[in-house]
Amino acid sequence: MSDLKEYDVVVVGGGPAGLSAACLLAEQNLSTAIVSPFYPKQAPQGKRDPRTIAMMQPSVRLMEHMGLWPKALKDVSSPLNHLRLVDDSGNLFNGTEVLFNCEELSDQPFGWNMPLPDLSQALLALARNSKIDFYEDEALGAPLKNDGVELQMANLGNLKAKVIVAADGRASNLRKSAGIGMAEWFYDQVAIGAVFSHSGPHNDTSTECHKQDGPLTTVPMPDNHSSLVWMVRPERGKELMALTDKEFAGELQLELHGELGIISDVINRKSFPMQGLNAMRYARNRVILIGEAAHVVPPIGAQGLNMSLRDGAMAAELIGDAHAFGDDIGADKLLTKYDTARRRDVWPRQKIIDLMNRSLLSSLPIVHDARAFGLNLVNRIAPLRSKVMREGISPTENLPRIMQG
Ligand SMILES: Cc1cc2nc3c(=O)[nH]c(=O)nc-3n(C[C@H](O)[C@H](O)[C@H](O)COP(=O)(O)OP(=O)(O)OC[C@H]3O[C@@H](n4cnc5c(N)ncnc54)[C@H](O)[C@@H]3O)c2cc1C
Repeated sequence: MSDLKEYDVVVVGGGPAGLSAACLLAEQNLSTAIVSPFYPKQAPQGKRDPRTIAMMQPSVRLMEHMGLWPKALKDVSSPLNHLRLVDDSGNLFNGTEVLFNCEELSDQPFGWNMPLPDLSQALLALARNSKIDFYEDEALGAPLKNDGVELQMANLGNLKAKVIVAADGRASNLRKSAGIGMAEWFYDQVAIGAVFSHSGPHNDTSTECHKQDGPLTTVPMPDNHSSLVWMVRPERGKELMALTDKEFAGELQLELHGELGIISDVINRKSFPMQGLNAMRYARNRVILIGEAAHVVPPIGAQGLNMSLRDGAMAAELIGDAHAFGDDIGADKLLTKYDTARRRDVWPRQKIIDLMNRSLLSSLPIVHDARAFGLNLVNRIAPLRSKVMREGISPTENLPRIMQG
């Protein structure tokens, strides 16, 4: 008899995708463990991760289901009542603008924007209070063993599981050990993230300005603060990172054409290299990939973590249902169902984001004109406008049950 500790599910990776999936699995009475080498520690303001998550309504419903919304998160969040896309590429249709208002869809905001460190902390506290065993270690791989897998850790030995949920990020060891290939590509861009104050109101509006070298997006935060995702060429990124906070505020104010008034108090400035990644399959050999282990997209249209939360919720739903029926929770049939459902959601979004980003980087003016013309059409054709709005928030099909309205 094996003396390895045995679980129904082992989640690998303690980022937001892994933590939320682990909580959803544990609440269904599946014996659950999480393996991750370190956990997000709350850094002091000024040294925090600048990322905020524009969490769309289905993801907010997930937080509500887990008891984190409005409790732990609403005070640090700002509603997203308006989403604005503006062409600022300096080409023929420069100035084309589309404004989506949440009342066009429902009486709720499109979503809420919240700091990633606060979200991670809230998820971690919930996971610590759930029936989840924590192993602070690095997972190396998970070869198949009889009717399960054996998860190998760098220092703490091995664990047995019926299925692994791999949320170990873009360099995923588990993806490799399951024999899943991936396509990876890099953009000639970095994204500068930061948080800043402004003298003018943001009116609960997130604005994505399409510039020559990538989008510049501001997302509302409480009390005349906004978060910034400014995608630029790497050389320009270096220049911007070398500026003092005051100089950076001046540059940003110019780029925004003074729209948010006087910019000040820029904090948490950080540069992120831009890449895309897509796993060839999202599940194989009793390993289910979620989050950035499965897919990476540039931060355009706030899709990354929203898709990852849907991955985790879908994996937990399928595993929970199989468990309730006494079926094998790591069976190929389940894995194929997961792969098909998630691919339908992720692939088109990844393609659209890639196309949009590459159109900005193109040196051909006609490509810029075509993009801006497309924006014009979206603005004018009501059914198209409504479809873009709905699909931008979440897929209308294959949404995990707990995220449905
Ligand atoms: C500037 C910027 C803005 C963004 N804005 C948005 C937004 O508005 N909305 C949105 O939805 N998304 C947004 N995103 C995307 C979002 O930040 C990411 O999708 C998300 O943070 C990734 O979470 P994750 O849990 O998949 O991965 P990670 O946070 O990378 O977590 C991976 C975890 O796995 C652990 N790990 C790694 N290797 C191992 C191993 N071998 N064994 C065990 N554990 C391991 C790591 O320690 C880590 O804890 C943005 C991204 C950027 C760059």
